[in-house]
Amino acid sequence: MVETSIMDALIRRTTENHLPITVHVDLTYRCNERCVHCYLDHNDYGEMTTKEICTLFEDLAEIGTLFLTISGGEIFLRKDFFELLEYARRRTPWPRLGRPEDIANAAVFLASDLATYITAANLVVDGGWLAR
Ligand code: SF4
Repeated sequence: MVETSIMDALIRRTTENHLPITVHVDLTYRCNERCVHCYLDHNDYGEMTTKEICTLFEDLAEIGTLFLTISGGEIFLRKDFFELLEYARRRTPWPRLGRPEDIANAAVFLASDLATYITAANLVVDGGWLAR
């Protein structure tokens, strides 16, 4: 298979290793509304605790899950919603994938007059991946 993009390579890696590249988490099934199009049955199945969800987010970040959708139910019925959102957000190196121009701009900088006094450096262009 010829990989035509970074996304193709990521999908291949996650498929071969049976890793979820994208995950959808319903934080709650609770909701005060009863929309006719809703796919939830609104039964009380219980909910994961704040700690359990944070551990899940840690695990997903560790294995390289790229896309996390947080949904419900009515997510604002969870008093810890913003805490969970911030917890997940802090594990996101950068809210997008790298683009070819991200690397190109770094190369242009190093080749420019602005970098004439740089004799050696590790210029990390990874959107914060190594800093996790
Ligand atoms: S979870 Fe969303 S779609 Fe379902 S009843 Fe509540 S508001 Fe409507």
